[in-house]
Amino acid sequence: MKYSSTRGADQLDLLGALEQGIASDGGLFLPDHLPEFSIDNFDGCDDAASVAQVFLAPFFEGSALEPHLAAICSDTFSFDLPLRGLQNGTDERVLYLLELFHGPTAAFKDVGARFLASCLSQAREKAAAEDPRPLLILVATSGDTGGAVAAAFHRRPGFEVAVLFPEGRVSSRQQHQLTCWGDNVSAFSVRGAFDDCQSMVKAAFADPQLTKKYRLSSANSINIGRLLPQCVYYALSSLLHWRQHERPLSFVIPSGNLGNGLAALLARSCGLPIADLVFASNANKTIPEFVETGEYQPRPSVATLASAMDVGAPSNLERLMHLHGDAQHLRESLFSLAVDDEQIRAALKQIYAEHGLAVCPHTATAFVAMQRLPTSRLTGRDWALVATADAAKFEDVVEPVIGTQVPVPPSLQSLLDRPAEFEQIDAGLAPFAQALEQKFSDRLG
Ligand SMILES: *Cc1c(COP(=O)(O)O)cnc(C)c1O
Repeated sequence: MKYSSTRGADQLDLLGALEQGIASDGGLFLPDHLPEFSIDNFDGCDDAASVAQVFLAPFFEGSALEPHLAAICSDTFSFDLPLRGLQNGTDERVLYLLELFHGPTAAFKDVGARFLASCLSQAREKAAAEDPRPLLILVATSGDTGGAVAAAFHRRPGFEVAVLFPEGRVSSRQQHQLTCWGDNVSAFSVRGAFDDCQSMVKAAFADPQLTKKYRLSSANSINIGRLLPQCVYYALSSLLHWRQHERPLSFVIPSGNLGNGLAALLARSCGLPIADLVFASNANKTIPEFVETGEYQPRPSVATLASAMDVGAPSNLERLMHLHGDAQHLRESLFSLAVDDEQIRAALKQIYAEHGLAVCPHTATAFVAMQRLPTSRLTGRDWALVATADAAKFEDVVEPVIGTQVPVPPSLQSLLDRPAEFEQIDAGLAPFAQALEQKFSDRLG
């Protein structure tokens, strides 16, 4: 399998695309063709690791990672991804929650981060023969990504991680998840916004001195290695549902950069039993507007209660446009809706009242979008809401609305119990380069 840019450049195998991250012409990598599966290709596969081995095999073809597929799948899919039924009683059609938050940092980004870490670990032996220095992973985060990447690379031999986050702009539990690791993970609190953090990482990659001194790599959300493993939970849940009911499953996906939504689209295009797809946005409406009009109009992001989706220029829209250039075709194949903060609050309340369940604000966004679907789209289908994070990660939003404390899952609690350590730095390449020098020059230089 070869991977090329949405803008035409490059022809790399999987490992090349993972390591390079972004295509040389600034576009995003996509596989050159999609494999076609039938349901019985997955006979005997009843957990995520075994579904992953079948689903991902064609994507690994011709790559140095191919012999390691089984190990990478069991390393990545080491936690539950349950499809939980919400309504009991007389209603034959059940509403489901696809819970993706049982990993180490309680959000679905653990899946992509673990897969990337696992692939790069497997590749390291070969790379280490050519260049024995550890790989220094730079990651700028607005919250969940940095924690997931830190957890995935923590104590992996041959890797160092530098996490940059904007001072005072992540929730206190998110900050703790970014700063509690120690060992090979260093956290930097940047006096600036997320955009400053992202520019500092970009500037580091463009700096000849830094790239000569360190072996740099990135783990940002546009890496194709984040996307591919996310297809697996759509494959698994739709297959399990099909085996029970002989009906396809439809998903409502809370979306920001659209990585999760695009993974669902890829899984459906590969033949998995998935019917409808709905991308739910918060007040940042770029995706619904694009689906409605076929025109891409990026704009500055606005802050909402579902903060992990506060994205005004969703990077994966470039992949969506490439796959579904025709606006008419796009509108027929998926649906998208924007939801405001008041509706998110009302949904948090309603789900708690009706099901006794505290969900995160992103999951609540999906709930509102489903309620507001046109009847013709809603009825006659089996729906799963994609639950992207544990409510306990966003307790500052959820607890005041439902009026009770959200229980903290043990894995999150164990991170919160660790001491935090981070360094404060100014925005800009020079302070970042100096901080890297102090931290790493003896270890990596
Ligand atoms: C990142 C994130 C999202 C948005 O996912 P995309 O792949 O960027 O669309 C939704 N919910 C949570 C909790 C997240 O961390």
